Amino acid sequence: MDRRRFVQAAGLGLAGAAVSPGPIAASTGAGRLDVRVGLSPPFDPWLEIDAAALRANVARISRLTDGRPILAVVKNNAYGLGLAETAGVLEPLDAIAGFAVVKPSAALELRDAGIEKPVLLMGLAEGEQAEALVRRQVELSFYDEGAPERMTRLARRLQAPVRGHVYLDTGMGRMGIAYHRALPWLRILAATDAVEVAGTFMAFTEETEFDREQYLRFRTYADTVQNLGLPLGRLHAASSNGVYHLPYAHLDMVRPGIAIYGAYPSRPDEERAMQELTPAVRLCARVVRVEQLRTGDGVSYGRNYVATAPTWTATLPVGHTDGYPRSAVEGARVLIGDRLYPVIGAVSASHSIVEVGPEPTVAVGDRAVLMGSDHEALEPNRLAEATGASVYDLLMHLSPSLPRTVV
Ligand SMILES: *Cc1c(COP(=O)(O)O)cnc(C)c1O
Repeated sequence: MDRRRFVQAAGLGLAGAAVSPGPIAASTGAGRLDVRVGLSPPFDPWLEIDAAALRANVARISRLTDGRPILAVVKNNAYGLGLAETAGVLEPLDAIAGFAVVKPSAALELRDAGIEKPVLLMGLAEGEQAEALVRRQVELSFYDEGAPERMTRLARRLQAPVRGHVYLDTGMGRMGIAYHRALPWLRILAATDAVEVAGTFMAFTEETEFDREQYLRFRTYADTVQNLGLPLGRLHAASSNGVYHLPYAHLDMVRPGIAIYGAYPSRPDEERAMQELTPAVRLCARVVRVEQLRTGDGVSYGRNYVATAPTWTATLPVGHTDGYPRSAVEGARVLIGDRLYPVIGAVSASHSIVEVGPEPTVAVGDRAVLMGSDHEALEPNRLAEATGASVYDLLMHLSPSLPRTVV
């Protein structure tokens, strides 16, 4: 039996039986069974990417930054939203100057998806991979001691200078060339004529007092480089936190990630008051079971929840492998119809359970929203607050295998 026929047979409860193609084809044809291989079965949880919200958030970031060009950070599968889907919505916007990623594979994925605007790799690539990236117009980060030599070799092979940005470590201690060692290194790099420096950038620790010190280190480096006639390119430093709180660091370009997707980076209440954002992703599922608990009946692993009175529950086929956090039982709610229902018991790998209450107000097949813009309680920041999770984790842990639709 081939896979297609097996799935159809399984759907009919005939798996393993000797099935002739005739009657099965007839039942699917009659529309009673719609299990089409290659399409998402209707009870898979899914993500909706809200294109209008992405566009609105970009416009709001422009407003906060006096129209600075935006280098959109789309690392980690565009913060869980889906790299190709998200970049496809962002690319046509005038405010979007280009994209930044950390993994070389993500840079190539953007090009494979047809993205033509500049792409900056904020990670390391070498050898054949570096060559493949540069051939596809990906801009590299220059920061390692070996860069002058590696870029010389690469430029010779390509018969052209390698375009990229100098990544300066002003105190983050994660990536980049240490600011106090950068000048002699840059002299050597620039003297090779192997690079075209399109920009110079840094990342803040987002520790309020230290951000200022980091900025001064960056500014001093930039001024010195400029005075020496060495290459600098466009200066960029501000992530979403900087977009909101460090206007002095907006420089030539800003480099936000999470704000584009509609989540506040640091101090949600304060940031919401400064400029509201719209969550651009919706996590959805459909109810697969509605059942009544008797007093004393428990729910899920560990029996963390035991009914103190008869009550109805609904099961959703979405769990922590999809990216819905285990900690959702600490206070998350789910929207079904126009009401919110609390998550109870335990979030397991592929199931979550909500308490419906004394009346069975939901039905199998109802659409449920677990995260999104549909209700304040479902906004990623609120969900993060309710569950003690980081809003970054919440978004970035959305499973890459969830089906995504741009709405
Ligand atoms: C992730 C990242 C950003 C974007 O940060 P947000 O807080 O999501 O705006 C900017 N720059 C660098 C270097 C990053 O790694």
